[in-house]
Amino acid sequence: MPIMQMPDSLANKIAAGEVVERPASVVKEIIENSIDAGATWIRIDVHEAGLSEMRIVDNGSGIPAEDVEKAFLPHATSKISTETDLFHVKTLGFRGEALASIASVSKLSIQTSEGDAAGVSLELEGGEVVKRGKSDARQGTEIIVRDLFYNTPARLKYMKSLHTELGHISDVLNRMALAHPEIRIEATHNGKGLLKTSGNKDMLQVISQVYGMSVAKQMSPVEYKTLDFTITGYIAKPEVTRASRNYMSTIINGRFVRNIALNKAIIEGYHTLLPIGRSPIVVLSIEMDSILVDVNVHPAKLEVRFSKEKELYAAVRDMIQSHFRKMTLIPEVTKKPEPKEKSEQHVFQFDTEPAHPFQDKGREFENSQQVIKEENPFQKEEPIFLREENKGIETNSEEQGAIVNQEEERPPEEPLKDVSTSFQIEEKVEQSPPRVPMMYPIGQLQGTYIMAQNENGLYMVDQHAAQERVKYEFFKRKLGKPINESQELLIPMTFDFSKKEAIFIEEAKDTLEKAGLFFEPFGNQTYIIRSHPTWFPAGFEEEIIREMVDQFIQESTVNVEKIREEAAILMSCKRSIKANHYLTSEEMFQLLEDLRSTTDPFTCPHGRPIIVHFSTYELEKMFKRIM
Ligand code: ADP
Ligand code: MG
Repeated sequence: MPIMQMPDSLANKIAAGEVVERPASVVKEIIENSIDAGATWIRIDVHEAGLSEMRIVDNGSGIPAEDVEKAFLPHATSKISTETDLFHVKTLGFRGEALASIASVSKLSIQTSEGDAAGVSLELEGGEVVKRGKSDARQGTEIIVRDLFYNTPARLKYMKSLHTELGHISDVLNRMALAHPEIRIEATHNGKGLLKTSGNKDMLQVISQVYGMSVAKQMSPVEYKTLDFTITGYIAKPEVTRASRNYMSTIINGRFVRNIALNKAIIEGYHTLLPIGRSPIVVLSIEMDSILVDVNVHPAKLEVRFSKEKELYAAVRDMIQSHFRKMTLIPEVTKKPEPKEKSEQHVFQFDTEPAHPFQDKGREFENSQQVIKEENPFQKEEPIFLREENKGIETNSEEQGAIVNQEEERPPEEPLKDVSTSFQIEEKVEQSPPRVPMMYPIGQLQGTYIMAQNENGLYMVDQHAAQERVKYEFFKRKLGKPINESQELLIPMTFDFSKKEAIFIEEAKDTLEKAGLFFEPFGNQTYIIRSHPTWFPAGFEEEIIREMVDQFIQESTVNVEKIREEAAILMSCKRSIKANHYLTSEEMFQLLEDLRSTTDPFTCPHGRPIIVHFSTYELEKMFKRIM
């Protein structure tokens, strides 16, 4: 074939493949145009998940009559005209591709007016103008897209179920609403309400619309300013988590973006407050100079790059960390007098888990005055045994004194037993129980680690992880094999779901019923459950039910075994003693005994180590008692 330039109609169809993947992409592009046009109100009416019709109306600037046809030409835009503009993009669109692409794969009609005189109406089919006319003078634009992909049957075949497509549309609407609480957005599907926001700038109200009231109630506002960034938003309490990362929303200059590193910064901000593998619910809106953002990376502009990204991640992380730190410091300040020679800052240097909300500083620590700023000698000797958090820990002499005293006051109840096996912590081979020899508590470090000894040496046990392991094994046994027996509830439970979850509950009905859950619709996003399988543990019904819905959204199936495992982990984590909680000798002893009786005392259900061991031999080597 000779080389030829493609006709526009063909080029547009190819471009459409990039920009218009599914009905949700059309909704996204058209709403973005409305936002760019300064609309304060946008109405979206979708039919058959957008495959039969999508109608978007705005009260934005409208398109000048003489420009309307131009808007459908490839690379036609009013938003940038020079290369310099590309580095200062302040609008959501700038590529000039969307309208041309959408029109090329659908039947599209538009009515638009700048409000001063009669407007223009235009009808296109497969990108060709088939009708021109006049419209009324109402300021704004109305676009109707019908029969999407009617002329690209291959693309049409790729469409998933109506529920899935509607789920994507719902995602787009939710993101737009979260990114623009100042715009009133009203959306329906087949005439039924999908989303309605007031446009009164209140982000929490939008969050409540998007995720439901029960989530909104668990969120608190955050704010942070640096020279380069202004961050505002809402973050959920650490105990409200989801298995999916999709509940972390980041908005940069009014554009909803997906950025793995930003998500990581958020998770780091929560630090150990989150169970591993769980994600928080967060909505953050970040404002920065447009010169710092490169939006020209991805055709749908969902991915962006920014300069100063390290600074941004640090800001996000620090903001969340200090939020939780503040929550816990306030009661402490009123409770205890300031330690003499130590500033609050100083206390924090000891924190291995600085963002813990259950922070209750150890008295031993507060009284300590002398700080030996030496590298931890253990670190050199035995890096394998040291957890990340233990690195760089500062030791102090008074604290050691305290431990010694404690030991003198309360000697071990029993004389040290002869333990024959030389116990190694990293040994993971299956052994006949118990796999850990008796350990006798000496004391507690930072209210977090139990220090224990026997003739094999010194043990540090993460008390939270240890109890998690104990509880996890207990709950797993208790949950038993899931059977299909169902339990009638005296008082039915009501559930408040997000719009998207509600859409999927409809689709998941059969699967969920097989798993023993019957959702009875009760108004828009609310459902009633009158019975649930007997294996559901009391107090965790809501979590398990949400987990099932989440799993269906992500994996299109419900795996009861996996849910049961998740439930045991969640229960063990929630019911376990946290770090910075002081235990009596008896409690420590009991916990160590319970731990010994578990089948896997070495790692917590999330895979973190529980015990760190320093053998007598290593200790003697460290102190050069032996060479
Ligand atoms: P882009 O948004 O990248 O400029 P589009 O193809 O989405 O490209 O739109 C082309 C042009 O049509 C826009 O630059 C804008 O001038 C105009 N336009 C599209 N939709 C609207 C709208 N709802 N209100 C006002 N102008 C619009
Ligand atoms: Mg656009």
